[in-house]
Amino acid sequence: MQIKQITVYGVRLPLKQPFKIAYDTYEDIESILVRIESTSGDVGWGEAVVDQHVSGETWQSARQIIARELAPLLIGRSFDSIGAFHKTAETRIRHSPSAKAALDIALHDLLARHCKVPLYALLGGRYHARLEVPSVISMLEPEEMARQARDACARGHTSVKIKLGDTSEMDIERIARVREAMMPGVALRVDANQGWSAKQALHIIRQTVSYRVDWFEQPVSIESLDALSQVTRATEAVIMADEPIHGVRDMLEVVRRQAADMVNIKLMKSGGLHAARIMAEVGCAAGIPCQIGSMVESSVATLAGAHLAIAHGNIVANDLVGPAMISHDVADMPGSDTHIELSDAPGLGIWIDEERVRALSTFEDRID
Ligand SMILES: [Mg+2]
Repeated sequence: MQIKQITVYGVRLPLKQPFKIAYDTYEDIESILVRIESTSGDVGWGEAVVDQHVSGETWQSARQIIARELAPLLIGRSFDSIGAFHKTAETRIRHSPSAKAALDIALHDLLARHCKVPLYALLGGRYHARLEVPSVISMLEPEEMARQARDACARGHTSVKIKLGDTSEMDIERIARVREAMMPGVALRVDANQGWSAKQALHIIRQTVSYRVDWFEQPVSIESLDALSQVTRATEAVIMADEPIHGVRDMLEVVRRQAADMVNIKLMKSGGLHAARIMAEVGCAAGIPCQIGSMVESSVATLAGAHLAIAHGNIVANDLVGPAMISHDVADMPGSDTHIELSDAPGLGIWIDEERVRALSTFEDRID
């Protein structure tokens, strides 16, 4: 039951097309894959994908924190005490959520594989039968976004999420064009990625009532929960918090300040599954439904999110779309680009192609 060796791979995951949101454009994805091996020969995989605008981590800083600070804490320790890992990790280094998430996911995968159960069984068992995955559309010209939304409906997506955060005029135009292009029964969701002011958000929400947007995600800056709270209280539209809400303490702040109607939980903000599950539970107690979001992650972290999403009744949506955007993944995602269907295979339920991991790697650290 002891951890023998940890390997840290820095991989570049090529995207099918550049991904453009309000605050950045991504040509490819810098990911860190972590492989933990036990003395009995079991292996678990985890992943970190940083967003420096959100957590202040970079690819290299996360690598250093995993390889030099956190992984050495685990060597020779038992892998079945994930809570104890987090306690020690928190004492060792503050924040650094994606570095902690990579090891948290690998420990969960390893424990579930050792127990020969799918990961969701460790997280409470199956609540949802399967997960419908939205189509996420970059912030582009309104006509192009409408075309992609039409295609997404034709492919069988039951929801479309559009990235906004531009001028009011352009964003209202985008919502209108996209909704007009969509089949009526398909859900439309908006993510402004902090791109609006509170007044601008209220103006756009008012002007687009007839286009039936399910919810507006992070309309205003990460810096001010007051501004988010102001928008939430001033409108009947559903407001979802994302970037400012990282861990359990932030979740409690949302509840205390009535800052949002929903919260987007991401393993790369919470430090992994351990805290994410508690956040979903706090949301449940406070009447705040949650989404499991993601950075653009490979099938490894995406599936960790999927196992939590399928196990928890208060997780009502997801944006687990990374593998659909990546052209060379390190494993085969179960399901299609419209849904994720988890098998009963142990752990994350996938076979990692180690040859491919090495081929995509630009650095490799071994800790034993
Ligand atoms: Mg978001």
